[in-house]
Amino acid sequence: MAYWRRGLSRATIRTMRSALLWISENSWCKETLPRYGFVRRAVRRFMPGETLGEALDAARALENVRGIPSLVTFLGENVADEAEAREVADHYVDAAGQVAARGLDAEISLKPTHLGLDLGFGVAEENIRRITAAAEAYGNWVWMDMEYSRYVDPTLELYRAIRADHKHFGICLQAYLHRTPADLESLVPLGPAIRLVKGAYAEPPDVALPVKADVDQAFYDLTLRMLAPDAREAGLRAGLATHDSSLIRRLDAWAEVNGVGRDAYEYQMLYGISENEQYRLAGQGRGIRVLISYGRHWFPWYVRRLAERPANVGFVVRSMVPFGGRS
Ligand SMILES: Cc1cc2nc3c(=O)[nH]c(=O)nc-3n(C[C@H](O)[C@H](O)[C@H](O)COP(=O)(O)OP(=O)(O)OC[C@H]3O[C@@H](n4cnc5c(N)ncnc54)[C@H](O)[C@@H]3O)c2cc1C
Repeated sequence: MAYWRRGLSRATIRTMRSALLWISENSWCKETLPRYGFVRRAVRRFMPGETLGEALDAARALENVRGIPSLVTFLGENVADEAEAREVADHYVDAAGQVAARGLDAEISLKPTHLGLDLGFGVAEENIRRITAAAEAYGNWVWMDMEYSRYVDPTLELYRAIRADHKHFGICLQAYLHRTPADLESLVPLGPAIRLVKGAYAEPPDVALPVKADVDQAFYDLTLRMLAPDAREAGLRAGLATHDSSLIRRLDAWAEVNGVGRDAYEYQMLYGISENEQYRLAGQGRGIRVLISYGRHWFPWYVRRLAERPANVGFVVRSMVPFGGRS
């Protein structure tokens, strides 16, 4: 295990990241690897369980013990059947009711292709509208994830169409895309809710920044734009989704120097990742929300988490012992 602690060269990390992102999309891997017990055990680090009940129990514990509100997301993507996409929408409508019945501060996060975007814009729009309407009836928020770059245009279009009727609706923008500064600029006048992320998918260099340091800088620059006076006056809700503690300190320092209050933005992180940073921020009364994922179709999502930090593969290897095997 010293190998992981010593660190990997940049070239090795890049190669591992590409290999993992390839695995996340490969049909054979998606079908076969989740059946192995050690893979299922490893995913527990990032996911409290496969059911909504387990996700909401984890949300309750975070809220009660740490004072941290959450986001919940039902895992799945690229649904190829309209009936299945409708069932996913039914699931989210029910989830909105269960969140309210439990009195939880848990917002909803969804993927457009899980709600049928591959089957047609209208299919996804109808399904997502059902969810935003249900959530709104309970005073809750819905966020839309951003997937591969080929989905950015329709996702932005979905956002504009649905946001016109549902104010508590947010969208994710990815800092690694060359187009994102222009997309952000076009959204600012709407007073949108934006979750800024670095970006988790394999994209070519003509579409996305290939160098991590440039992506970190783009995240910083985009945050400053989201917190500019005109954006705040328009009512922009800024969700900064990162675990990058040096970036967090840099952004907080900038906000302090520029008189931007701590309540002008919130951080969003993933369940099981950088927990000490989550607790530190919550302990200071800062805005922090944790995204809890659940569902049976966790494989591509989980492998993207490994790709974000290839040293995580060490945890998978460790979970092969002592009870490795297929289940
Ligand atoms: C709430 C939330 C929603 C997201 N939604 C989307 C989305 O809709 N679309 C999209 O493309 N991406 C999404 N992402 C993923 C995002 O794009 C990044 O891939 C991910 O957050 C890693 O970047 P980072 O800035 O957190 O950390 P990095 O700069 O990659 O790493 C900084 C530090 O964070 C920790 N860390 C980061 N990732 C991991 C990990 N997987 N395992 C263990 N430690 C880790 C490590 O300590 C690491 O040193 C989301 C992320 C979050 C937190």
